[in-house]
Amino acid sequence: MDHEMDLENRLVSMEYLPEDDGDNPLRPRSLREYIGQEKVKENLSVFIDAAKERHEALDHVLLYGPPGLGKTTLAAIIANELGVNFRITSGPALERPGDLAALLTNMEEGDVLFIDEIHRLPRTVEEILYPAMEDFAIDIINGKGQGAASIHLPLQKFTLIGATTRAGQLSAPLRDRFGVIARLELYTPEELAKIVARSARILDVPCEDEGALEIASRCRGTPRIANRMLKRVRDFAQILGGGVIDKASARQALDRMEVDELGLDMVDRRMLEAMIRHYNGGPVGLETLAAMIGEEAVTIEDVYEPYLMQIGFISRTPRGRVVLPAAYAHLGMDQNGQTMF
Ligand code: ADP
Repeated sequence: MDHEMDLENRLVSMEYLPEDDGDNPLRPRSLREYIGQEKVKENLSVFIDAAKERHEALDHVLLYGPPGLGKTTLAAIIANELGVNFRITSGPALERPGDLAALLTNMEEGDVLFIDEIHRLPRTVEEILYPAMEDFAIDIINGKGQGAASIHLPLQKFTLIGATTRAGQLSAPLRDRFGVIARLELYTPEELAKIVARSARILDVPCEDEGALEIASRCRGTPRIANRMLKRVRDFAQILGGGVIDKASARQALDRMEVDELGLDMVDRRMLEAMIRHYNGGPVGLETLAAMIGEEAVTIEDVYEPYLMQIGFISRTPRGRVVLPAAYAHLGMDQNGQTMF
C-alpha cells in the first residue's frame, strides 16, 4: 500500500479533507447550537453581549486547539451573534502585506476578520497586523527606492479572530494583542454523541443513541472526525443493514474501516508498535517518530499526540515520547513487544 496515500486518506485524520466540503449544513450557526466547550461559550457570550450593548467592536480573539475542534465554526458564530460580516482567510494565503491591506481596508465597522493558521503568517504581514489590531491603522510603503512613500491608512474598528493549533507557536507581540485567548478542548464522548445525533437529524439518517455513542467513542474527541464517520457509517448501514445506525451497524462499519474501539487506526497502532518493538517503548525523539511514520514533526504534535496523550497512551518527557502501560494493554503487547494472549 502507498504509505503517503494511506496517511492522507485516514478516516481519523483531523485535518480538513475535500469530502468535508458537504459539511456546511452540519455547521452550527449560533452559540446555542454549538455543543460543548461550555466555559469558552459562557465567556464569549458575555463579551459578545457587552460589545453589542456598548456598540463597540469585540476585542480580538485567539482560538487555539487541535484541528477539527470547531475553531472556524466558532469564529463564524461570533460574527453571526454580533450581527456583522465575516471574512475568512489564512496565514499562508496572506503572502504580502498588500494582501492583508486589501482585506482590512474593505472591512466595515465591527466586522470580523478570521485568520486561520495565524502562526503561519509571513513576518512582513504580521508586522502590519500589529498597528492594525492596536490602532486600527496601517502604514503601507508604496513604490521602491528613493521614490518610495509611506501611506497611512486609517481602518474601521474591526475584530480579528485568529486560530492556531498551538498558541505557543505565536510570537509574543502578536499573542499580546489579543484581548481574549480561548483554548478549545477535545470533546467528551457524551458531547460527541450529541453532535452525531444532531448531524444525523440534519442528514435525515435514523440513528439510535447507542449508534451515536459508538461513533462518538471512536472519533478521537473531534467533531470533524465524528461527522466524517457518521457519513461512512450511513453508507454501510444503508447497503448492509436496514438503513438505521444502531450499535451493531456502527460497530460493523468502523471495524471494517479498521478504526478500533478507541478510534485508533493503522497508523496510530503502527507508530505505537514501532515505539515498543524498536525503542523499548521510548523515550523516542519527536524527529525519530516523524521519520518512523513518514510525517512532519508538527503534524505529530498537533494531530496524533493530543488524543494519544488524552487517553493515557503516551506521555511527553524531556527526552522524548514514552509509551504508557495502557497502550501496551490495548495492543495486547508485553514490555518486550511480544503479543500476549
Ligand atoms: P477547526 O476550524 O477547529 O479545524 P471546524 O470549525 O472546521 O474546525 O469544525 C469542523 C466540523 O466539525 C464543522 O464542520 C462542524 O460541522 C463540526 N463542529 C465543530 N464544532 C462543533 C460543535 N461544537 N458542535 C457541533 N458541530 C461542531
